[in-house]
Amino acid sequence: MNNTDHLADSGISISGKVDIDFGKIMERIRRIRSDISHHDSAVRFTKELGVELYLGRGKFLSKSSLEVNGQVLNFHKAVIATGGGPSLIPMKGLKELHASNLNPGDGIPRPYVMTNESFFNMTVQPKKLIIVGPGVIGLEMAQSMQRLGTQVSVLGRSGRVLPKEDDDHAIIIQNQMEKEGVEFKLSVTEYVSVELTGEITSNGLPEMLFNIREKIDGEEIVTEMIVDAVLVATGRRPNVNGMDLEAAGVEYDTRVGIKVNDRLQTTNSKVFAAGDCCSTFKFTHAADFMARTVIRNALFFGKDKMSSLLNAKNRLLILG
Ligand SMILES: Cc1cc2nc3c(=O)[nH]c(=O)nc-3n(C[C@H](O)[C@H](O)[C@H](O)COP(=O)(O)OP(=O)(O)OC[C@H]3O[C@@H](n4cnc5c(N)ncnc54)[C@H](O)[C@@H]3O)c2cc1C
Repeated sequence: MNNTDHLADSGISISGKVDIDFGKIMERIRRIRSDISHHDSAVRFTKELGVELYLGRGKFLSKSSLEVNGQVLNFHKAVIATGGGPSLIPMKGLKELHASNLNPGDGIPRPYVMTNESFFNMTVQPKKLIIVGPGVIGLEMAQSMQRLGTQVSVLGRSGRVLPKEDDDHAIIIQNQMEKEGVEFKLSVTEYVSVELTGEITSNGLPEMLFNIREKIDGEEIVTEMIVDAVLVATGRRPNVNGMDLEAAGVEYDTRVGIKVNDRLQTTNSKVFAAGDCCSTFKFTHAADFMARTVIRNALFFGKDKMSSLLNAKNRLLILG
């Protein structure tokens, strides 16, 4: 395949000007995800790696047993690696519109009110997209969608983008994205309501009225925005519910996650935890580091510490 064919296959054609086929771009993303999915597939883990797999929601029965689909499993050591999920913000109408987007298939156009879990299901390019949450995921999606031709507005409450990063980095990124046409409203004081207007835009998507209250020059004003897509990217909450962690003696906080010590043991020393369900560092490489630490500590009498990751980072900073 030559470069032009590669681009055409990706939904981009260049003939004097650049043309974008949004549906094709999203289709390619889903195809690539599907192509790599065998790495994490049940077949690979059972047939190739010899792992015993019980598909279903795990629920603890005691400090040394749990149940999956009615089957009781006793354990000497266990690891909780349930990850996290997106959370919605309190806003009138948001939950209902989000729920109505989850089960399409009847041909009726659904409002695009999305989280990261439904974002990649889009088939139609929105004209105007609001992204609530100026963190890494929000900004990554904002820049991509703006470059593909959607008008994007990013909303936040703290007055700046990337609240967890250094000020000077955040400013550079915001300036660049503004140059590319992204609009920022970063002093929102209240997400008031979102509702359907009853109109369908020319791209076939239901139109929505999105109301916020924001502070401008010390004054609170109400701003109404007409959009055809909303992405809520306000962070991820740890998956800790529905597992009966109490039965296992595992303490947790619904916001922060499962409580672990430096060796990644929970308050039940036979149960470890790794990844987004117990970490403030919600990244693949951090989850990978934690998983390796747990394997050494749980199975090979290791004494590895989570803090060594942070210390290593500090050492690098001093050398640099
Ligand atoms: C849109 C998006 C973009 C991202 N981009 C990046 C990036 O560029 N770089 C990066 O480093 N990180 C990125 N991340 C973060 C990264 O995906 C996570 O940090 C990583 O997947 C965490 O791994 P995990 O194993 O802890 O959890 P997960 O990968 O979430 O896996 C948890 C698994 O446990 C299952 N589960 C939950 N509850 C139960 C239960 N009771 N019983 C049985 N199973 C259960 C879930 O279904 C899931 O399969 C991104 C995340 C998102 C959402």
